[in-house]
Order: sequence, then structure tokens, then C-alpha cells
Amino acid sequence: MPIIVANIVIRPEKIVAYFEANARDLPWRRPGTTPWGVLLSEVMSHQTPVARVAPVWEEWVERWPTPRDFAAASPDDILRAWGSLGYPRRALRLRECAQVIVDAHAGEVPADVEALLALPGVGDYTARAVACFAFGANVAVVDTNVRRVYARAESGRFLAVPRKSEIADLAALLPERNGPVFSAGLMELGALVCTAANPKCGSCPLEADCAWVAAGRPEPSPEELRKKKVQKFVGTDRQVRGTIMKLLRESNTPVSCAKIDALWPDNVQLSRALFSLLDDNLAEQDDAGYFHLPR
Ligand code: SF4
Repeated sequence: MPIIVANIVIRPEKIVAYFEANARDLPWRRPGTTPWGVLLSEVMSHQTPVARVAPVWEEWVERWPTPRDFAAASPDDILRAWGSLGYPRRALRLRECAQVIVDAHAGEVPADVEALLALPGVGDYTARAVACFAFGANVAVVDTNVRRVYARAESGRFLAVPRKSEIADLAALLPERNGPVFSAGLMELGALVCTAANPKCGSCPLEADCAWVAAGRPEPSPEELRKKKVQKFVGTDRQVRGTIMKLLRESNTPVSCAKIDALWPDNVQLSRALFSLLDDNLAEQDDAGYFHLPR
């Protein structure tokens, strides 16, 4: 039996109805998607918008339909196929993850949250999402979108702050039936309606009871906004790393230092980014001093 919480705003029946009427047709939501496909979609979507993930995901499940296929692929092929999804260490961690699935689970993605958590690169969110969406487990799945909806609807705060009790709080809201649909619906509501900057409360099924709306839609304090400051990308080492990776991905032969030097005006920053890629095993240097993707 789920715990009954007084005055709850996030009513499962509203969230399920919202999802059934508004769910996006994402390729990994289609019938026949395997647990491996769900795991790939969760890792890829973690820091990248789904519109960019969808075509890459379709290519990957066609090319590497099982963890065994993926574990046998070369890092070079994987990083080229990862393309510009960003944070490419995720791709290499996925390969390690596939290898453990092959070695420890006979090539089958495990269903249990604890076993999923033991896989390389799989954190609490991904473990719960795979258990829920691939295997139908009734476990709370808490991502940024869910945190935001909860903070606004239940606590009246515009910005979410991480709470120790968030998994337990969300678990208390899970219905006995349709738990995965409820979780997918809450994530979808945060992604499409209760968005970070401009919530579309008029289209939200929770508007009538939402604590933030009832409180008169208070703005976050300057201090909260400072804490929440969005990380910039332009001019950062991350941008430089991405620029170098793009050159390496697009080249079929090793790349000279001169070509890398021409990528960025600040040599110190460029060297720092290049060495960090070497450290992360995302790039290698051959005996002649040329750079290439790991093989
Ligand atoms: S009513 Fe507005 S603030 Fe409240 S949950 Fe819905 S979209 Fe978010």
C-alpha cells in the first residue's frame, strides 16, 4: 500500500491522464524497445535534449542491438557514432557497462535497481529509470524535471533544491498500478509544461491545486538564482574539448599538432583541453606525435 500523504497536489490520475493525452512519440517509447534500448536512451538523454538524441539512438539500436554487440565495438567507432551529443565520456562508460552486462549478467540488462547501480556509469536516476521503464518496476524516478514539478506543485518554490527525502516523497505518490506511466508523465510534464524558465500553468493539470500558483507565483530570491546560475558553454574548456573531438571524429587519419593549434586562439586553454582528453582516454597520441580517437 502506498503511504497516504495529506493534501497532495500531484495526483496520479491527473498525471496518468495528462501523459496518455500528451506523451511525445519518442522512439524508445515504442513497443519492442529492449531494456538495452531503454538504458541507452536514459544515458544519452541525461545531459542532451531528446530531439538530438533520437536519431543517434535509432542508429545505435540498429547497429548495436545488444550489449554484446556494443561491448565488441571499438572506442573509435563508438565515439564517432556518439557525434556531438556532448560529454563523450558517457559513451566510453557505456562500453564498460556493456562489458559488465556481458560478463556478469550473460548479456542481459539486469532488472533490479541494486544490480543496475553496480554497472559502470549507472547512477541512481538511470538505475531507477531502467528498472521502471524497461521492467515496469514501481520505483520512484527523480530527474531535474520531476524535482522542479514537485518543488512548485507541492512546496510552492519556483526552484528545486535537492532534498534527502526526495525519493521517499516521490515513492509515496506512486500509485499501485500504472507507476511507470505516472513517472513518465511527471517527467513529461516538467519537460513540456512546468519548464525551467516559463511554466505554462494554463496547460497544466495541476494548476487548480498547485502550491506555487496558490502562493501568487513568487519569484525566486536573488540568492536562490545565484545558486542556480546556469553554466555557460561558450569560451569554456568544455567547448574547446568539443572542438578538438569534432576534428578527431571527422578525420579518417591521425591529426597533426598544427591542425589542433589552429582550432583555438588561446594556446594555454587549448593545451589544457587536449591533455584532459588524453587523460580521459578520449584521445590518443601516436609515436609520430599525431592525435586520433582511441582504438
Ligand atoms: S501549475 Fe504551473 S507551476 Fe504548478 S506544476 Fe503546473 S506548470 Fe508547474
